[in-house]
Amino acid sequence: MEKLRSGYLFPEISMRREAHQKKYPDAKVISLGIGDTTEPIPSIITSAMSEYALGLSTPEGYQGYGPEQGQKSLRKAIAEKVYPNMGIRDTEVFISDGAQCDIARLQMLFGRDVTIAVQDPTFPGYVDSGVIMGQTGGADESSGGRYSRIEYMRCAPENAFFPDLATVPRTDVIFFCSPNNPTGHAASREQLRQLVDFARGNGSIVVFDSAYASYVSADGDKPRSIYEVPGAREVAIEISSFSKFAGFTGVRLGWAVVPDELLYADGTRVARDFDRVVCTSFNGASSVAQVGGLACLATEEGREAVRRVVGKYKENTRVLVDTFRALGKEVYGGDDSPYVWVRFPGQRSWEVFAEILEKTHVITVPGSGFGPGGEGFIRVSAFNSRERVVEACARLTSFLA
Ligand SMILES: *Cc1c(COP(=O)(O)O)cnc(C)c1O
Repeated sequence: MEKLRSGYLFPEISMRREAHQKKYPDAKVISLGIGDTTEPIPSIITSAMSEYALGLSTPEGYQGYGPEQGQKSLRKAIAEKVYPNMGIRDTEVFISDGAQCDIARLQMLFGRDVTIAVQDPTFPGYVDSGVIMGQTGGADESSGGRYSRIEYMRCAPENAFFPDLATVPRTDVIFFCSPNNPTGHAASREQLRQLVDFARGNGSIVVFDSAYASYVSADGDKPRSIYEVPGAREVAIEISSFSKFAGFTGVRLGWAVVPDELLYADGTRVARDFDRVVCTSFNGASSVAQVGGLACLATEEGREAVRRVVGKYKENTRVLVDTFRALGKEVYGGDDSPYVWVRFPGQRSWEVFAEILEKTHVITVPGSGFGPGGEGFIRVSAFNSRERVVEACARLTSFLA
């Protein structure tokens, strides 16, 4: 715990927001910061949950513990609707209370002796949970606070946001997030093929975080799952979540796929041990949340309702991208994610964050909070109402123009 690098990013941002609001009590601060959803959950989903919840008050409707791995119907719906024609069996899907929580349970399974690689920049959860497990050497402040035992795979515009794997040392586990938080970049089919081949050659496990899979544009050829790549079943665990596609950030529901073909060097199934971890440290996701998850996936109406919400955020992203482009900024992400990644050459991320907040009362996220490779960038999130996004863009334009 002592080795955790000071201050988790988002508490620091909310402290600065509070200080700003104190300084300017009348300012209408707009947050394009934290990756939390803002659109209401479609009522086809909440009515299923409320009906089930009311049933819990009746002798016929009451249910206690469910299976630790999740309701069969939901596991089946995920296998069929999220992974069509990818050969995923319902028994390989473990329902959870969210991807963040699965990251911690996977780290518990891997233990402290493994070596891990992460994209740089990336979602902070992989490194922080690894540090808590004790997978790290000390934080080396001289190299931007990297931990000496963790492999940082630089992902920048210069390498199409994909590392040159020929120069990446072997690690036991590779955490890979696509579409990526924070860069918004979705890996191409060829990039994921390289990643799977690399892991197969090295005997590494890929933990593929597909929390933003539903933001991948239908008109491109970007995979929404690692299992679209041949051979992935032998090397990859996929973690995902209802948070960003169904607005379940507060409801809490996610899943992990651990394929039967994923084996340790001695031939035993990783899924067997993950099942043991789940049964020991987690008694299953909330039954109410699982009913909601099923309502998102089981019917065409449910699927259409959540698609519409994702579509709203994607339109916001378009507004943000167009705004920064019109200002002559180098802009990335956006097409396949709710995040826009903007470069400010020669400036430090926290400086840019502070300047934008001071002049426009808009909250962004400093890129350096996601790893040393994020320095010089800010992440701008599309999670807000259209009206506020448009207002924020107007303020940014008058300030940056
Ligand atoms: C939001 C997010 C998560 C966390 O999802 P929960 O299911 O809400 O725990 C995981 N991974 C990435 C990349 C995220 O952005």
